[in-house]
Amino acid sequence: MTRRIGIDLGGTKTEAIALDAEGREVFRKRVPTPRGDYDATLDTIASLVAEAGEGSIGVGIPGALSHATGLVKNANSTWLIGKPLKQDLERALGREVRLANDANCFALSEATDGAAAGAEVAFGVILGTGVGGGVVVRGRLVEGVNAIAGEWGHNPLPLPRAEDLPLRPCYCGREGCIETYLCGPALERDGGEAALGLYCERLARALAGVINLLDPDVIVLGGGVSNIARLYDEVPGLLPRYVFSDRVATRLVPPKHGDSSGVRGAAWLWQPI
Ligand SMILES: [Zn+2]
Repeated sequence: MTRRIGIDLGGTKTEAIALDAEGREVFRKRVPTPRGDYDATLDTIASLVAEAGEGSIGVGIPGALSHATGLVKNANSTWLIGKPLKQDLERALGREVRLANDANCFALSEATDGAAAGAEVAFGVILGTGVGGGVVVRGRLVEGVNAIAGEWGHNPLPLPRAEDLPLRPCYCGREGCIETYLCGPALERDGGEAALGLYCERLARALAGVINLLDPDVIVLGGGVSNIARLYDEVPGLLPRYVFSDRVATRLVPPKHGDSSGVRGAAWLWQPI
C-alpha cells in the first residue's frame, strides 16, 4: 500500500490527509466534528475516507483504546468513551484501521519527518487545551501496556511552591496535575504573556521529570502554547536546576509540521516494516 490516509478526530474539527509514498500531501479536507453524536462521527470519518481514496487508514483520537476492553477511554470528547470505535470504523470502511492517541500521533509525525527526525528517543508534548505527550523510540511509537505511555499531563507538578498552591483540581479527579498549570487556558488565567516567566519555570520542573526518566534526545512542543518563542530561549537554561546530570544536552524545539502534525502522524501509524 503506497498511500497513507490519516484522520485527526478533534473535539471541534475532523481533518483528513492522504500522503503518497514519499510523505507528500496529496489530499486534505477539514470538516466540523458532529459533537455529541457517535453515529454521525462514524459517518463523517467514512465520507472523508471515501473522498481520500485507496490507502491505509490511521486515526488519531482524543483518548486511547483500552487494552482491557478495546473501548475508548480517557477522551475529553466524552461521546466516544466506552465505544468500540475501532471495530465500528472497520465495519463501516471494510478495511483495517489503526487508532492512536492524538498526542502520540503528534510525536510520531515529528519523529518521522519533522523536528525530531532521526532522534533515538523523542518526546512530543501537546501544550494546548489539555497537556499530553507521546514517546517515539527509533521511529516507533511506544504505546505502553496500559496504552498511556507519555501521559505526563496528569502527573503532579514537581516541587510545588507557594505560588503553585493550593494545588489545582483537575477534571481527572486528582489535584496538582501538570495539565492544570501548563494548559493554554491555565496560562491565560494566570495572566497570559505577563505570567510567562512562571510558566517557563513550571515547564522546566515538569520536563526535568521526563528527562530524568526517559532522557530523550529531543523534546518537541506542540499545541497553541508552543507558538511562544520565549519558551525555547528560557526553558533550556532552567533545566539544569532540576535534571540529575552534569550537563543537559536535550534539545527543546518547536514542531516542523505545526497544526498538521496530528493528522500526519495518524497517517504514519502505518509505517514500512
Ligand atoms: Zn489530571
